[in-house]
Amino acid sequence: MTEFRARSQLGRVVVVGGGTAGWMTALMAHRFLPEAAITVVEDPEVGVIGVGEGTTPHFVQRFLDVVGIPVSLLVQEAGATIKNCFRHTDWNGDGASYHHPFEDHVTPRVDIASVHPDAPWHDGEFSFASRACDRERVIFERRPDVDPTLDAILNLHAHGSFALHFDAVRLAELLGRVATSRGVAHVRGRVGTFERDAAGNVVELRLDDGRALATDFVFDCSGLARLVVGKLHGTRWHDASPWLPCDRALPFFLPTEAPLPVYSESRAMRNGWLWTIPVQGRLGCGYVFDSRMTSAEACLRELQERLGPTVAPVRTIDFSPGWFDRPWVHNCVAIGLSSGFLEPLEATSIWFAVVALNELFRRQLALGDERARADFNAWFGLLMQRGLDFVHLHYLGRRRDTPFWSTFRDRTRRPDGVAQALAPDGWRNWAGDDAGAAGNPLPFPWTSWRAVAGGTGNLDRSAVSRYWHYYGLHPGWPERREAEQARIDAVVARCLDHGTCLRLLGAPPGR
Ligand SMILES: Cc1cc2nc3c(=O)[nH]c(=O)nc-3n(C[C@H](O)[C@H](O)[C@H](O)COP(=O)(O)OP(=O)(O)OC[C@H]3O[C@@H](n4cnc5c(N)ncnc54)[C@H](O)[C@@H]3O)c2cc1C
Repeated sequence: MTEFRARSQLGRVVVVGGGTAGWMTALMAHRFLPEAAITVVEDPEVGVIGVGEGTTPHFVQRFLDVVGIPVSLLVQEAGATIKNCFRHTDWNGDGASYHHPFEDHVTPRVDIASVHPDAPWHDGEFSFASRACDRERVIFERRPDVDPTLDAILNLHAHGSFALHFDAVRLAELLGRVATSRGVAHVRGRVGTFERDAAGNVVELRLDDGRALATDFVFDCSGLARLVVGKLHGTRWHDASPWLPCDRALPFFLPTEAPLPVYSESRAMRNGWLWTIPVQGRLGCGYVFDSRMTSAEACLRELQERLGPTVAPVRTIDFSPGWFDRPWVHNCVAIGLSSGFLEPLEATSIWFAVVALNELFRRQLALGDERARADFNAWFGLLMQRGLDFVHLHYLGRRRDTPFWSTFRDRTRRPDGVAQALAPDGWRNWAGDDAGAAGNPLPFPWTSWRAVAGGTGNLDRSAVSRYWHYYGLHPGWPERREAEQARIDAVVARCLDHGTCLRLLGAPPGR
C-alpha cells in the first residue's frame, strides 16, 4: 500500500482553519489542484487571531498575483494601505529611526553611505524607499499610457517591490468570499477528532456536532490551536526562546494619523517593542514583551504614558517562539501559525506561509514521494532559522536603559547565523546572489542584513566594501553623492502621495 496518493488522485482536500493562512491555502490549492474538491472548515467560536496586518512583497507577488486577486480589491474591501518598508525606531536608545526597505530600482546598487569610512552608518540618504517614506510618498507614479479599464494597479508604475497593510479580520472574510465564489466549500464547525489509516494518514475529520469530512490531504491552518501536526501527530517542537525573548503581546487600536504612513513601525520600548501598522480608518498597534521581565499592567502604564490614557488593549496574546521540526507529516502540512511562529518583528509569519505554499505547489505536491516531504521539512527549518537569526539581530542595538536591554546579551544565546553574518568575511554567505535551494530564495538578502546591522550599529564597513568589490562595483564617493540624491529625489517627486494612491485604487471615501 502506498502511503500517499499521487497528486492526480487527490480528490478531497480539507483545510482546517479560516484565518489568513487557511484561505490563502485554499486559494492556492484551488489554483494548483484544479481537480480537487477543497473544503475549509473553521470554528466560528474561536475566530481568527485578528493580528498580522503587515506583510512583505511576497504576499503581493507570490500570493495575490499567483491566485489572480488585484491589489485594488484589498484596498476597496480590506482597508489595505501601501507599505514601502519597515521603520525601526529607538532601538539604540537615542530616539532615532532607520529603515529596512524593500528592493527597488532607483537606489544605487552600491550603498555609498555605508561604504565610505567618513559617512554616517546609515541615514537612508541613498535609499529610494527611505526618502519616499520621509516624504510620505508611495513608490508609484501614474502611467498615462495604460488602458483605464484595466485594473487600477496597472495604471501605476512601481519603482520596486511594495507590500500591503490590511485589516486582518476583513482580509480573511474577503479571501473567503473569493475562494467560495471559485468553488471552495466552507463548513462552520469545530473539528474534534481525527480518523487515521494504518499508515498514519488522516482519512476523516469529525466535527463536534457529529458531521464527518472524508479527506485525502489535510492542511493544518488551525493557528495557535495547532490541531493536526502539533496535537494529533505530536511533532517535535523546536524551541526558539533561548534566542528570542518576547512571548506576549497586547494589541490595541488608535485613530489614524494624517498623512497615513507608508511603513510599518517598530518602536523599542522598556521591555520589548511596539508595532504600529496603518490601515484605512485606524492604526493597529501592539506591545510585544518578555513576560519574565515585566507584566502586562506595567506595559499598559508605559503605553498610556506615551500615547494617552485611552489606550486599551483588546486582548492578551501568549506565544512561544519556535517551530515544528516536521511541518509535513504523513498527509498533513501545517501552514501559518500552526507550523510555528517567531514573533511579529519583520512580518515573517504571513511571508513564510506564502513561500511555504509556493514551495509545496512548486513541487507539485508529489504526495507519494517521501523525499519531497523530507526536502520540504528541511527547507522549512532553514527558513525559520534564517528568520530567527535576522530577528535576533534587531535586539543587538545600543539601548541599555532597562534590565530587558542591558541583560539581553547575557540572557539570550547568539545564533550562529548572526555571528557568521557579522564576522569580517560574513558577506561571503550572501555572495552568489542570495539564492536558496532550487530557486525559492531563502529570506533576508545581504541588503536586509546591511540595513539592520547598520541601523543597530553592528555593520562592519570594510565587509560592505569587500562585498561590493566582489561584484566589481566601486562606490565612487563623493563625486556621485549630489547627483545620486538629485536623481532619487526627482523620482520621489513624481511619485504619488499615499492618500491619492489609495483613492486611485478605489478606497472608500473618508478613509
Ligand atoms: C501578536 C502577533 C502579531 C503578529 N503580527 C504579524 C504581522 O505583522 N505580520 C505577519 O505576517 N504576521 C503577523 N503575525 C502572525 C499572523 O497573525 C498569522 O501568520 C496570520 O494571521 C495567519 O494566522 P493563521 O491563519 O495561521 O491563524 P488564525 O488567524 O488564528 O486562524 C486559525 C483558524 O483555525 C480555526 N480553528 C481553530 N481551532 C479549530 C477547530 N478545532 N476546528 C475548526 N477550526 C478551528 C479558527 O476558527 C481560525 O479560523 C502576528 C502574530 C501575533 C501573535
